[in-house]
Amino acid sequence: MNHNNSDPKRPASVAYGSAARRTSVGVSVGGVQIGGDAPIVVQSMTNTDTADIAATVSQIAELKRAGSELVRITVNTAEAAAAVPRIRDGLAQRGVEVPLIGDFHYNGHQLLANEPACAQALAKYRINPGNVGFGQKRDRQFAAIIEAAIANHKPVRIGVNWGSLDQALLARLMDENAARSQPWEASAVVREALVRSALDSAAIAEEIGLPRDRIILSCKVSGVQDLIAVYRELALRSDHALHLGLTEAGMGSKGIVASSAAMAVLLQEGIGDTIRVSLTPEPGQARSAEVVVAQELLQTMGMRSFTPLVTACPGCGRTTSSFFQELAKRVTDHVRERMPSWRLTRPGAEDLSLAVMGCIVNGPGESRHAHIGISLPGTGESPAAPVFIDGQKHCTLRGEGITDEFLRIIDHYVDTRFGSDGSD
Ligand code: SF4
Repeated sequence: MNHNNSDPKRPASVAYGSAARRTSVGVSVGGVQIGGDAPIVVQSMTNTDTADIAATVSQIAELKRAGSELVRITVNTAEAAAAVPRIRDGLAQRGVEVPLIGDFHYNGHQLLANEPACAQALAKYRINPGNVGFGQKRDRQFAAIIEAAIANHKPVRIGVNWGSLDQALLARLMDENAARSQPWEASAVVREALVRSALDSAAIAEEIGLPRDRIILSCKVSGVQDLIAVYRELALRSDHALHLGLTEAGMGSKGIVASSAAMAVLLQEGIGDTIRVSLTPEPGQARSAEVVVAQELLQTMGMRSFTPLVTACPGCGRTTSSFFQELAKRVTDHVRERMPSWRLTRPGAEDLSLAVMGCIVNGPGESRHAHIGISLPGTGESPAAPVFIDGQKHCTLRGEGITDEFLRIIDHYVDTRFGSDGSD
């Protein structure tokens, strides 16, 4: 179901092939536009102790370099809150400009009141309605955070998570459900509680005085089908900008596949204005892996371009050696390493398509479809690797230096094709 088509109040604003973005109220987060007709924004989160200023500055810089457009940091203690303006300064000294989002649970109202410099240095506050407080304190503390946002002219993400769902609300909805003549399944009641928690909290924030164009909603769950169901409902019942992500996605291929499966369905339906891939890093893996996955998800769906994509065949019995895999990896790493500087000096390079193919069966054909492609010799073929540029045979590489030669051809193409003035 595409809500743009099913609801005439929500005309399509941005078309992507057969998909169209749901129209939402745009929100500016430190100058980065989320929602409205803005492109879908990639964000990430640090896993350093925020009170460790040097480590946090370093990781934010890494995430930004990888292409994260917003970075969320934990603000959980007085020390962490005091560190936030110093982190902001440290980033400025390194020339790193990226809006910072403060992630608050339990004591956000106190930290924002006690550390005005923190409240000012952050570009957005994320609060979880299930972790704001209990009983009457809950409303007071929620209101205090919203008032801090109003006073500091900051937007807020009301981020519901089913690991910390408002239990009083859930109990009330369970009671209401028990009184139905045909009760829903318990899972449906939980999903309704997630959506209601976000929508009710947003309504309260607006009543307090936070403008609609400073509110972003999210309802994160860890199950793919649950995420799809919850966000479809949220999108149907609200025009707030939506932050999309599968929480606790997990590690490695499981985390990538689960996040991509859930978010791809929703993005294709036009749902989602900003995304985060919540990957558990493997030991030794860079935190920025989650940024790469988010970018590749959007780019492979044709929604945004970040880095040249490398098409490579899987290899098979015709592939003569591991050289083909090594070349595909070198090319992928090379363009990703170059991209931060190309982004500044070679605009348009992110749309480059490359192909690294293992033999003559599909090699020349796939290479011709790419801007630059190379077809390596398979079993029984002569030891020569034809290179294709813009669909035409350009040259044939041979011998030990194929990798370096091919990388030089890519760099030369980018330098000549994508000028610093953006000319093509
Ligand atoms: S292009 Fe050649 S090496 Fe690659 S998968 Fe196809 S047949 Fe195998």
